[in-house]
Amino acid sequence: MSIATHRSAATPPDAPTGALREITQVVRGRPTSDGAGVKLTRVIGQPALDMLDPFLMLDEFRSDQADDYLAGFPSHPHRGFETVTYMLAGRMRHGDNQGNSGLLTAGSVQWMTAGRGILHSEMPEQEDGLMWGFQLWVNLPAKDKMTAPRYQDIAPERIPEVDLAKGVKARVIAGEAGGVTGPVQADATAAVYLDLRLQQGSATELALPAGHNAFVYVYEGQARVGEGSRSDLLRGDLGVLDRDGERVRIAAPQAPARLILVAGKPFNEPVAKYGPFVMNTQQQIVQAIEDFRSGRF
Ligand code: FE
Repeated sequence: MSIATHRSAATPPDAPTGALREITQVVRGRPTSDGAGVKLTRVIGQPALDMLDPFLMLDEFRSDQADDYLAGFPSHPHRGFETVTYMLAGRMRHGDNQGNSGLLTAGSVQWMTAGRGILHSEMPEQEDGLMWGFQLWVNLPAKDKMTAPRYQDIAPERIPEVDLAKGVKARVIAGEAGGVTGPVQADATAAVYLDLRLQQGSATELALPAGHNAFVYVYEGQARVGEGSRSDLLRGDLGVLDRDGERVRIAAPQAPARLILVAGKPFNEPVAKYGPFVMNTQQQIVQAIEDFRSGRF
């Protein structure tokens, strides 16, 4: 992965201040399958954590067994929210009914605003090897649910990497960290999406916008987040952060760690969900199904 922006932050001029956020809940994902039979782990959008406003779903897909992913996600619709695909390994081909298509490679992000509706497919472009990444569903506020569809396809080299402290690197996908701003625009949620890598024994503190809901998900090693009683997270643990503070402390005292840190402004609006349609009312869901069936996507 190449480095677009590199900044040393041994003595950060913008060291965060304010109260420290702590983990209030630790959630383990549930194995499930989706699409045409892709095996994955659902971390948000399951009984232990139905949603974390504005985040509706988080899936981790990780397998080197082709049978687990080859079936892919053939043509399916979305309306009313955004899907964010972040690839750690492998290649996924994306295509939609408007003729848009693209290849998601390791280290890339696709931030897709479905808005009033798209019909797309997401298919692996490999027949063996490791396929690894995340799909996050980010809600849209009522005023934006019927907006025009939009793609932000971000190649790996467009995602800046910054040194946050000795032994701590962050890829900044959305939001700001260490004085660097990520390439993704997500105005409604003012989303933060960071991919952090910590060497054993390292630690850092990050500013997080006040009032944003936030979580960390450890995808390799183990990490300590905050200083509370639930601060130790293992691989596969999602930690929900409290909303009170403006900074978060992340450390890797026992082992190296890789994790994503995601935050967004909650909407506090009613959520009506039916599969790939996420609206505010049941009537809007009925309309979405009607529009889809009559080919208006
Ligand atoms: Fe999709």
